[in-house]
Amino acid sequence: MSKTIKKIGVLTSGGDSPGMNAAIRSVVRTCAYHDIECIGIYRGYQGMIEGDFKEMGPRSVNNIVNKGGTILKSARSKDFMTVEGRKKAHENLVAAGVDALVVIGGDGSFTGAEVFNNEFGYPVMGIPGTIDNDIFGTSHTLGFDTALNTVVDCIDKIRDTASSHNRLFLVEVMGRDAGHIALNAGIGAGAEEILIPEEDLGLDRLLESLRRSKASGKSSSIVVIAEGDKIGKNVFELKDYIEENLPEYDIRVSVLGHMQRGGSPSCFDRVLASRLGVKAVESILEGKSNFMVGILNDKIALTPLEQAIKGHSEIDRELLRVSDIMTI
Ligand code: ATP
Repeated sequence: MSKTIKKIGVLTSGGDSPGMNAAIRSVVRTCAYHDIECIGIYRGYQGMIEGDFKEMGPRSVNNIVNKGGTILKSARSKDFMTVEGRKKAHENLVAAGVDALVVIGGDGSFTGAEVFNNEFGYPVMGIPGTIDNDIFGTSHTLGFDTALNTVVDCIDKIRDTASSHNRLFLVEVMGRDAGHIALNAGIGAGAEEILIPEEDLGLDRLLESLRRSKASGKSSSIVVIAEGDKIGKNVFELKDYIEENLPEYDIRVSVLGHMQRGGSPSCFDRVLASRLGVKAVESILEGKSNFMVGILNDKIALTPLEQAIKGHSEIDRELLRVSDIMTI
């Protein structure tokens, strides 16, 4: 392995997600394993501009593998969108002797990393951390699995009330542009219908499906709705619309909100974070740069950052069919 890299910086950027801490821990300990130094950069790119750095050794990441959020804090930085901001960040890294950067975040953070690499020829490596699972080049982003478990757990609880009172519950989950959470958690929680941004189900079909469900003898129903679903009504407008057309339904709305982002990471996310951190550091030591480390068919795989940013992570359309069959 190349020994020109002596010190690696790690930061978390954009929205936090469960598993980020496990990834930080993995990066820090892999650096120690290979006898190189590691610097934690606080508050994402903003901390890079302000020189908010801290030396991190293997003991500085004790007891965080199970913690949600990120001990390094996360931020969105307007200053990093400017050349002056990035220049200042570069000067700080050089002054601190940091030779390469691991960026844990979403596609916006990867765009920042790519711009930084292009401008300064600075080695960067991305780890996908977002609950939305909307990044090309990885079947799972850090936090997605945990978020699914959280959502399913919440819907299980909602179902108790739904069935006790013969109600229809509209449950809104995160996903402005991607329906991965809605689709997977919807199937896992046995939802009647799932509305996602990628597919225009149509209001007529939704009403028809609810009519059929009532006629088939179901006493309660759950509809899972991604924030950015294509139907074009927010969840409360949708409630009003269904009530007008199907007065036989007693409807309640539940918006799960930020609870989906937090919490202790699932075992899957902890293992994934550990694997991605090892690969990110070792790839840098092999002289690689400008890649995202992801997982495809259970193998850790590198995707050029440019592709990870521009590519689209498609939903699995077979899941739509599975959902249809399950709600017969
Ligand atoms: P999430 O999925 O939670 O939104 P994200 O990584 O996509 O995470 P963004 O807010 O889009 O979050 O991006 C995080 C930060 O990356 C921005 O605040 C900004 O500092 C930096 N960034 C994004 N796009 C660019 C760009 N074109 N040039 C420079 N920096 C950028």
